[in-house]
Amino acid sequence: MVDCTLSGADIDSVESFAGKDISMEIFKGLHAFIWRDFQANNCNTYFIEGSKKILVDPGIFQFFSHVRAGLAHLGLSPGQIDVVVITHEHYDHMDSVHLFEKPTWIAMSRGARDSIRKYGNGREVFPEPDFMLTEGTLNIGNASFYIIPSPGHSPGSICVYWPDRKVLFSGDTIFKQSIGRSDLPGGQGSLLKESILRISKLDIEYLLPGHGEIIEGKKEVQENFRFIERQWFRYLEDN
Ligand SMILES: [Zn+2]
Repeated sequence: MVDCTLSGADIDSVESFAGKDISMEIFKGLHAFIWRDFQANNCNTYFIEGSKKILVDPGIFQFFSHVRAGLAHLGLSPGQIDVVVITHEHYDHMDSVHLFEKPTWIAMSRGARDSIRKYGNGREVFPEPDFMLTEGTLNIGNASFYIIPSPGHSPGSICVYWPDRKVLFSGDTIFKQSIGRSDLPGGQGSLLKESILRISKLDIEYLLPGHGEIIEGKKEVQENFRFIERQWFRYLEDN
């Protein structure tokens, strides 16, 4: 009989290869775990390592090995994360939050929490957030962010701006050459348009969306906003 099991050493090498493949360093202290399997829906996850360790959008439970492998490549495990920040209430962004327990904190907007209560999002029970993200400055350890409510794709959507590094975590508000759907429960096209216009005024070097590839470079980010305005805004006028 052929033995198809891998030895421990082989498993380690497989995992570290996968982790190397998954974990992309954007700059020191910021990593992207981009989801590139187009057969299955899941979100991108981002990891910020300052004096606190922050994970943005842990994604779907079924695919959490993606995040685990990305962290393992950096010598970390999910239990070492200090704060999980959720960009919005959709299942494909936050299904895995139930894997995290104290002392890890879960943060989302009040709108996201309320929207889950109203519409559900795939699970019977969801952990309550440990703190609510409201408009304004959010200091986590030595990193200072600015929370921008961005309704339209969903009522509880936020964008997270990191002014010192000119980074915007855009959730499902905007992607490379595309925008989030506005036809899901609580979505509204005209609000999505307003939210996109608002974030388009920020000084952004790195646009890190909830799905698809990141956009790097101020000029490229601005060109993407112009493209969205030309190609997509007409569909957002009256809904
Ligand atoms: Zn979404």
